[in-house]
Amino acid sequence: MGGLTVITGPSGVGKGSLVTQLLTRHQQVWLSISATTRAPRKGEKDGEHYFFLTVDRFKELIEEDGFLEWAEFAGNFYGTPSSQVKQKLMNGKTVLLEIELEGARQVRSSFPEAFQIFIAPPDFSELERRIRARGTDSDKAIERRLFRAKEELKAKNEFDAVVINDDLEEALHELEQLMKLF
Ligand code: 5GP
Repeated sequence: MGGLTVITGPSGVGKGSLVTQLLTRHQQVWLSISATTRAPRKGEKDGEHYFFLTVDRFKELIEEDGFLEWAEFAGNFYGTPSSQVKQKLMNGKTVLLEIELEGARQVRSSFPEAFQIFIAPPDFSELERRIRARGTDSDKAIERRLFRAKEELKAKNEFDAVVINDDLEEALHELEQLMKLF
């Protein structure tokens, strides 16, 4: 049986880059592909970055108990399909979930043995700069993400560990230690 690690942190904190590096460097790590109702960003592929679903299909899956956790974030639904996660854990993989705060809280109660890591920015103004610099979201979406980021930061002490993503290499090294990836 493998282990489950949850990575949470505000939008723009650089979770994506950290996770990509972990996957490149450690073959035993498997990243769960989430389902979402948000529209694909430029370059995002269905089944690779997300499973892009309609709201109706997403709600059907909730009814069918198909999600390990799900949450609404900045006006869209996001969820972790449970079947693949369970299968990968049985195969001894280190399963990684990169999800927002509400989902992490659900996993904490349904899967208490999961290790939960919060990725924090060096400070809030840096986070705001990164969210705005991404240039892929509308002004309204950016405001929602900034509001949500403030809320998420308040919850960081609920987590088993907090990693500050200032220098990418240093943050990666810390993650590798916490996940015991040697
Ligand atoms: P984005 O739209 O930027 O790809 O993701 C927005 C937020 O949703 C991020 O904080 C991301 O971690 C989170 N997220 C992605 N997939 C899931 C999921 O399956 N469940 C939950 N709860 N959050 C998710």
